[in-house]
Amino acid sequence: MDIPAHPRLDFDPLDPVALTQALIRCPSVTPHEGGALTLLDAVLSAQGYDVHRPVFGAPGMPDIENLYARIGTQGPVLVIAGHTDVVPVGDATAWTRDPFGGVVEDGVLHGRGACDMKGGLAAMMAGALRFRRENPDAPGSIAFLVTGDEEGPAVNGTVKLLKWAHQRGERFDHCLLGEPTNPASMSDMIKIGRRGSLTGRLTVNGKQGHVGYPHLADNPIRGMVRLLAALDATPLDGGTEHFDPSNLEVTTLDVGNPASNVVPAQAKAVFNIRFNDVWTPQTLAAEIERRLREAAGNSVRYEIAFDPTNAVAFLTQPGPFVAMVADAVEAETGQRPALSTTGGTSDARFIKSYCPVVEYGVVGQTMHQVNECVAVADLLALEAITHRLLTAYFKAPGGTEAQ
Ligand SMILES: [Zn+2]
Repeated sequence: MDIPAHPRLDFDPLDPVALTQALIRCPSVTPHEGGALTLLDAVLSAQGYDVHRPVFGAPGMPDIENLYARIGTQGPVLVIAGHTDVVPVGDATAWTRDPFGGVVEDGVLHGRGACDMKGGLAAMMAGALRFRRENPDAPGSIAFLVTGDEEGPAVNGTVKLLKWAHQRGERFDHCLLGEPTNPASMSDMIKIGRRGSLTGRLTVNGKQGHVGYPHLADNPIRGMVRLLAALDATPLDGGTEHFDPSNLEVTTLDVGNPASNVVPAQAKAVFNIRFNDVWTPQTLAAEIERRLREAAGNSVRYEIAFDPTNAVAFLTQPGPFVAMVADAVEAETGQRPALSTTGGTSDARFIKSYCPVVEYGVVGQTMHQVNECVAVADLLALEAITHRLLTAYFKAPGGTEAQ
């Protein structure tokens, strides 16, 4: 029996709604491929793309499938990046529709990944396929960089895929990452950067004892309160042109002492800082250590440890490429989107080391939630915006001036 190399497509891949539905029907919860990359492989191969499916692994971790595809051999190379993995369903009984059904009702497409980010990836892919079909001789190349490990540890995904592509001699001029950037409508927001993230773990050591004999004990809570107050006392910075001020949040404070008549031996706290481009993880950690040292003096015994992080802050300077994306959004929606650096981290933090990256995608209101969904109109708008962007880009490549 012959096994076909690619599944037969029973839908039009240039239809962003049909492509999103087909993707949602692949249960690709991280780390499972779920058929999603196989589907995209089939779609892109049929359209003349050169498709690769590198698999990456690491000790103690499941292997992860990824996809890289390119059409064209010349520059400039515009890469469209995204992920096909999705977060788990959560409370399955709370879903009013099958999370992997991809049904459309009253102009809304339902399912896990509808907005984060199968919908965004499918709509951009459909727009790119239409552009190439209408302009088969367009100068330059379009590439797709798709990982199955964005919602997981992000170790065997984009970071390794970029390195793999670079080692093969692939060079990118600009990247569009299709994460759901819009809070409420398709004209809201383009992301041109992201804050970094640093997590610190603080332990204050004391001496356990009887509360009635405090001179025989040393209460670590007193020292912990002093240290945390010192971390919070002065703003880390005042923000920068494109970034809000860096922000520190204490996320937990633990003593675990069930007795009201015992001074505990140890207090622990964890804090997370979302920081702007004033800092690197290293300079920020040094500043935190300085504040702790000063507040502790000789009287508080503490230890501080920082989680390893590759979540640096970065900014793609507004220039011709950012303007081109904003122009396309404005032309299709009637409103110019804001340029923002808010929200969590994304794979753009890896891509920025290879080329300028801009994020734009559908409305993210229901991402990671039960009953995740996306408006059909938003998928159609993103398809049209992508088509318009590619038309402008390959007529007048953004080039290095957009750096
Ligand atoms: Zn996402």
